[in-house]
Amino acid sequence: MKKIIFATTNKGKMDEIRMIMKDFDVEIVSMKDAGIYAVIEETGKTFEENAVIKAENIMKLTGCITLADDSGLEIDYINKEPGVYSARYLGEETPYCVKNKVLIDRLTGAKGEERSARFVCAIAAAFPDGDTIVKRATIEGQIGYEEKGTNGFGYDPILYVPEYGKTTGEMDPEEKNKISHRGKALEMMKEVLKEKL
Ligand code: IMP
Repeated sequence: MKKIIFATTNKGKMDEIRMIMKDFDVEIVSMKDAGIYAVIEETGKTFEENAVIKAENIMKLTGCITLADDSGLEIDYINKEPGVYSARYLGEETPYCVKNKVLIDRLTGAKGEERSARFVCAIAAAFPDGDTIVKRATIEGQIGYEEKGTNGFGYDPILYVPEYGKTTGEMDPEEKNKISHRGKALEMMKEVLKEKL
């Protein structure tokens, strides 16, 4: 059976990709399962660049088809911050209740459309034949005036999605997965893999 490595250490992401790829005759393995403990520095300036850096480096180490993703929150009013620095914003160890409060404060005075923001996810697939393909998807919303919801993680309580009348932190996981940046990017990548495998 063909093996695909997903360059992540996050169990939630592994479960998501395994679910989406369940109809394929492939084995999806994590970096840990593949015995890879390399830390690949995310030196890119875009989500796409970071996903490609991770996928290509791990593919070169293993010789296997490798998928990697990079994601984060872009807020238009503050020049698309925190962007690729979403995990590192104000320090990796700073709790998200603090990060979220600081971001809400930075939008003081911004109203309606001025609060536009999105989660972005780029997924790259690096193939041993030298091909690399990257797909990007978003979930569009606005930064709320206060944190709402206890589901999800990270910035979920502050991304209000007008179409659904709630934040992604108020959505149950299945509902969020269907419309999320990562869910949509994974579906796009599934189409790529259908062609390539
Ligand atoms: P990474 O792609 O795992 O490096 O995640 C980047 C960071 O973006 C996370 O640590 C979160 O801060 C943020 N982020 C990405 N996707 C989501 C999401 O679905 N909800 C909330 N925060 C997210």
